[in-house]
Amino acid sequence: MKLSEIYKSTVPVLSFEVFPPKPEVPLENVMRLIGSLKQYSPSYISVTYGAGGSSRGRTIEIASRIKQEHGLEPVAHLTCVGQTCGEMDRILAELKENGVSNVLALRGDPPREQPEFDFLRGEFKYASELIEYIRSRGSFGIAAAAYPEGHRDSRYIDEDWENLKLKVDSGVDLLVTQLFYDNRLFYHFRDTVRKMGITVPIVPGVMPIFNSRQIRRILSLCGASMPPDVFMMLDKYGESDQDMYRAGVEYAIHQIQDLMSEGVDGIHLEVMNRPELAEDVLKGLSGAKGKFSA
Ligand SMILES: Cc1cc2nc3c(=O)[nH]c(=O)nc-3n(C[C@H](O)[C@H](O)[C@H](O)COP(=O)(O)OP(=O)(O)OC[C@H]3O[C@@H](n4cnc5c(N)ncnc54)[C@H](O)[C@@H]3O)c2cc1C
Repeated sequence: MKLSEIYKSTVPVLSFEVFPPKPEVPLENVMRLIGSLKQYSPSYISVTYGAGGSSRGRTIEIASRIKQEHGLEPVAHLTCVGQTCGEMDRILAELKENGVSNVLALRGDPPREQPEFDFLRGEFKYASELIEYIRSRGSFGIAAAAYPEGHRDSRYIDEDWENLKLKVDSGVDLLVTQLFYDNRLFYHFRDTVRKMGITVPIVPGVMPIFNSRQIRRILSLCGASMPPDVFMMLDKYGESDQDMYRAGVEYAIHQIQDLMSEGVDGIHLEVMNRPELAEDVLKGLSGAKGKFSA
């Protein structure tokens, strides 16, 4: 089912995000995870694309197997990094052959070993160009990324949201946001871009905090901010992985409850390839199954 159909639902849509394991780790681990996520009847599961396209083959394989082995709807992330039109055609053909009909189209970040990587010299400079290309190549449902605090490359937040409008106008069906821990940022972002004429569903990306080192690293990479209550939570529980995990799950439950009370289109839960994280968060949203569209 295409993303535009999925989001016609009148109740919030539940979706998950998983990532391909490192090359030396067998794919069966992530396939087992996906099997365990099935019990929550997610409307789709998205599979990230390694920075610099490093996990390209695995993203396509996992997305294909989500469809074929579990009968769930996959969304394959794709990036512009080092990508030519010819390669993109091959990827899209392979996805189509395997029944994957939705993608999340991104610019991507510079490969780790090439921090000076220049997107402006590539065939696709911005996500909007990739989106326009995919739109012209067939009938894929297309999601794109959005940043409630503005993308870190943008000098002005407003400028990033102007670029977001251009991106949506190039053929986007759905926006999924970068993680954030202060819901007020999301509400302000949503209100502002709605006034700018962005009408597609906007789904908050929620990443439960389960480890203080990891969340500090992720925030420093993506440029999202740490609100004072998260700062205090890390201070209080950061030394104990067990206590941090419990506090992080609790925070995510409250965050999602608040988002749902404000009528979000859905929740995109980044489960960090940990089935227990999905279980503990969804259990905490008592009766979660009835709250989301299946
Ligand atoms: C939900 C989500 C999923 C993600 N999944 C992955 C993944 O699987 N793999 C991965 O490598 N990364 C992933 N990322 C990270 C993403 O690749 C980075 O944030 C990247 O730096 C920007 O990608 P984008 O698609 O948002 O870029 P763009 O929309 O192209 O924006 C990048 C920057 O360029 C600016 N810009 C856009 N258009 C123009 C224009 N026409 N002129 C001038 N400036 C412009 C924007 O304002 C922004 O500052 C994900 C991010 C999110 C939020």
